[in-house]
Amino acid sequence: MFGGHSAVSISTPSRRAVFSVLGASVVAGLTACTAAEGAETTQGAGTTQGAGTTQGAGTAQRSTPALTPTTAAESPGVPPASASPTPTPTPTKRIRRTFIPDYQLPPIVSGLAPVITKIETKHPVVFLTIDDGNIKTPESIKLMAEYDYPSSLFLTKDTIADNPAFFNAFKAQGSLIENHTVTHNINMVRQWGYQQQLNDMVGMQEYALQHYGRRPTLFRPPGGAYSNVMRQAVADAGMKAIITWEAKANAGKMDYQVGNALRPGDIVLMHFRAEFAADLAAFRAAQLAAGLEVVLLEDFLGVA
Ligand SMILES: [Zn+2]
Repeated sequence: MFGGHSAVSISTPSRRAVFSVLGASVVAGLTACTAAEGAETTQGAGTTQGAGTTQGAGTAQRSTPALTPTTAAESPGVPPASASPTPTPTPTKRIRRTFIPDYQLPPIVSGLAPVITKIETKHPVVFLTIDDGNIKTPESIKLMAEYDYPSSLFLTKDTIADNPAFFNAFKAQGSLIENHTVTHNINMVRQWGYQQQLNDMVGMQEYALQHYGRRPTLFRPPGGAYSNVMRQAVADAGMKAIITWEAKANAGKMDYQVGNALRPGDIVLMHFRAEFAADLAAFRAAQLAAGLEVVLLEDFLGVA
């Protein structure tokens, strides 16, 4: 049920993974997001959860293997055959690996998008996510290219509107732009009702489509807090899941909510900040020490 590997022809030697069985730990789903970016607070998701939210974390009950072989469905440079109404303007080297997945993205149930905090997988993989987009430096482009890290970029319209083209370089390297709202209101769960939350999501959906040629499929709440109202809005905005985290690279070091090292399937939070290089160095050291390969979360979930 695991261990399927397909070192397909497009894999470069440096990216070829040796799959081994690593113990995957099941962890509690609540995320205490402590994003220390300028505005984001440490109040955390745990304070706002209604009864229904914790089961959306996807860590416990959705470990059934998905043995659907998708190897032939993807090929390098070919956009996924999804229903995107607009063509991808430039081919990328995004799809380099395919998996015989041992994890299945929980479906939208009762109109609520699932909440994913960690991927329960035995594949030795880790997922890098980078948020907001405030600080845009050539150095960050250079480092990401040097390390060849495909990443999920949860961008906020208001923080990237001064230079949206900056992120095309990451896209060309294999990353995807995802949804982190228009305004980055970290109190949106408490302050806003359904419609206002939806509007702030849809605005970013449209902006991403306009500038990057693809509708985001994943949502990250500003500050990390979510609710069932938010989960409904995320689904209605056309996205597949809320993505939180249990590890982050912050202030030049790694912070773990569970344990003291990266685990297979961890989702790592970073930000486009002035300390990008130090944060990425901390992540890289942890990633290499754990023997994990950085792969694109959307590829693994089948929502690219
Ligand atoms: Zn943010």
